[in-house]
Amino acid sequence: MEQTKTELHTHLMGMMTSERFLKFLSNYLDCVYWPLDEPISNASQTVPISSLLTDEDALDSLRIPHGTQVDYFTLDDRYATRTELLKLAVHKTFSRLYREVKEKHPDVIDETVKKAVTSTAETTVYNDYINSSLLELVNQGVEYVEISYSNPRIIANFVMDDYLKDKITCKFLLSTDRSRSLKNMRQSIKSLRTLLVTSFAVGIDIMGQERPFSTEELDPNNSKSFEKKLEMAFDELLQHNDTTLRIHSGEIPSKDNTLLTLRMIEHIATKKGITIPPPEIRIGHGLHFNPSEDYLSLLKKFHCIVELNASSNYGLGNIKDYSEVPYSYYLEHDIPVVIATDGHGLYDTSIITEDKIARLNTTKDQYDTILKTDAELLGKKVK
Ligand SMILES: [Zn+2]
Repeated sequence: MEQTKTELHTHLMGMMTSERFLKFLSNYLDCVYWPLDEPISNASQTVPISSLLTDEDALDSLRIPHGTQVDYFTLDDRYATRTELLKLAVHKTFSRLYREVKEKHPDVIDETVKKAVTSTAETTVYNDYINSSLLELVNQGVEYVEISYSNPRIIANFVMDDYLKDKITCKFLLSTDRSRSLKNMRQSIKSLRTLLVTSFAVGIDIMGQERPFSTEELDPNNSKSFEKKLEMAFDELLQHNDTTLRIHSGEIPSKDNTLLTLRMIEHIATKKGITIPPPEIRIGHGLHFNPSEDYLSLLKKFHCIVELNASSNYGLGNIKDYSEVPYSYYLEHDIPVVIATDGHGLYDTSIITEDKIARLNTTKDQYDTILKTDAELLGKKVK
């Protein structure tokens, strides 16, 4: 059966399935702290990883089982568990490499060895993690992926395994939190500049806990102004070719967030006297909104692409049923949508599952339009 082949909305720490994550860890660690879903400092014992590979509780500590619903605290716990375990693997790798170097070159100063080995250990583990996750996407039929992640060093040091090169194209979005101060946002933009020139990065992802905009955020002259942050992103993205600005918006039932964001973009475009795109504007989620002419015309004006993540939206309780995902609304009004997972491992899903949900909740013509958009994007992005 025909399926979509792009995965435009996924996050690095949510990519790998629980099963593969534990197998992956077993290459680096013999034991892990237990229970997995508690902070390591609360751990009461260690258990061999080999005993966890088929343990549903252990697997569920790393994912939101498909069809179940959790709150945002649980989501944060899942992310924290994955991050802590990956750090543990880096730490073990560091110790092993350090020992090896010291055995071979006992006279080299400790600090020099530590410095060299720290970076190698991190790059080794993360590259292995990303490449293994990419293999899962290849097995789901994905040919192009954009991974969102906040650590510029990991993005800069990524090297794709040779055997994947003719199977999938992998790019990155540097993620940054919408609540960052202007000063910290400036720092993110500085990292973005370096990444756009030197790495596989193609743009920025503005994410973080979504809330209704505050009065300060809506005031363009306030130091908390969201428009100011957006403008910083535009200023940098416009210096490079084929860039993307993805904004996580409309995930929670605060229905005007996306419309207000689009108005800020319009204000920026008018002020600068520019036509947008470029950059490519993507709305991550676009689940909750007040249907209006204004909303539609701004989405059209900026050629926005809406990324729908049905299982993630269900898993976090933002919808009660997949029929609430607004595929039809967007498609009926000629707004392009793409199908994504928001992290297939974490949400215990796949592009194949997301396609199936989309097919069940659209007409045949509508689903064909999704396939057509997907094919066009694939052609444009994989050159
Ligand atoms: Zn997301």
